[in-house]
Amino acid sequence: MNERIFLSAPHMGGQEIKFINQAFDENWIAPLGPNVNGFEKDLQDYNKVSNASVLSSGTAAIHLALILLGIKRDDVVLASSFTFSATVNPIVYQQANPVLIDSEDETWNMDPNLLEKAIKEYIQKGKKPKAIIFVHLYGMPGKIEEVRALADQYEIPIIEDAAEALGASLKGKALGTFGDFGVFSFNGNKIITTSGGGALVSENKEWIDKSRFLATQARDAAPHYQHSEIGYNYRMSNIAAGIGRGQMLVLDQWVEKRRANHEFYRNELGNLGLSFLNEPENSFSNRWLTCVLFDESIKRTTEELRQYLEGFNIETRPLWKPMHLQPVFKKYDAYTSGVSEKLFKTGLCLPSSSSLSKDQKQLIVEKIKQFLK
Ligand SMILES: *Cc1c(COP(=O)(O)O)cnc(C)c1O
Repeated sequence: MNERIFLSAPHMGGQEIKFINQAFDENWIAPLGPNVNGFEKDLQDYNKVSNASVLSSGTAAIHLALILLGIKRDDVVLASSFTFSATVNPIVYQQANPVLIDSEDETWNMDPNLLEKAIKEYIQKGKKPKAIIFVHLYGMPGKIEEVRALADQYEIPIIEDAAEALGASLKGKALGTFGDFGVFSFNGNKIITTSGGGALVSENKEWIDKSRFLATQARDAAPHYQHSEIGYNYRMSNIAAGIGRGQMLVLDQWVEKRRANHEFYRNELGNLGLSFLNEPENSFSNRWLTCVLFDESIKRTTEELRQYLEGFNIETRPLWKPMHLQPVFKKYDAYTSGVSEKLFKTGLCLPSSSSLSKDQKQLIVEKIKQFLK
């Protein structure tokens, strides 16, 4: 049997260990140090954003953004429904109410028309939404300019969840820099990894300074431990940040490899009843994951394909199950169109690692072609 082919595996470039060794040599084994500062600088420079704080996870970054925006009990926060649960969980940590917004079918991300409908209706009810969490799924730029315009018109801040979208851009501007806050994740399966970690970015220096303060237990300036606010232990360790600095050196190469995986699948499988998410003009996707949709001509299900490929030690996964269909979020309001539900039912994400070899890719398409015969 061949070695297991993962959906999205960590991929080290080689320099990571040097930054880690440096941390050991200087005994910076702590949630602060030169790698933390260096990784923040790298993220700022790469994304052309003025401020970044690196944290223990992308989820922590979203949570801190909500806290900095003053989100509290019973507030309404509008969020993309077609996403990973980590987008929505922090809203509930704050005891606020998520209102879930379905996708459009061009980029699979939040539909600005449904968003505007929700904003208007909630304003009418006297519950003006306090924030919008907008996700760029699978690294594909969503309609963030339209959403930015609505957010400005109605004066609602945006938290831009670019957890899957580092390296992607719209009209040359990095995703994560359109919102009032941007969020990145460096979990093990993301385009680059620090084993686990995240970042919060913003043009607002006060917010990012405050995020560092809250992420280190909100210690007041005093020789003893004094606290006037509730704090969190959300800072990234200097070891993890060392991995991040090494990964930043290969980020653009890894994006190119993921994009090449996508092109390969598209060329090999494009005429067999499978369709792919197109990259709109002016958009640059990092193609974090390549997902295929089955059209009606295929009489078998995506779950059958998943199990078939599993038999060859090839890992695939359904698209995200929308949050409005999740048992834990069912009780919350949602503005739906059926788009994300259909994507969930007809889609499958293929192995997309930047480390996939040519032979592995050949094997995957060979097996998919056999299945479709
Ligand atoms: C991975 C992910 C997150 C959370 O990031 P973690 O670092 O795993 O906490 C948030 N949103 C989306 C869309 C993600 O894919």
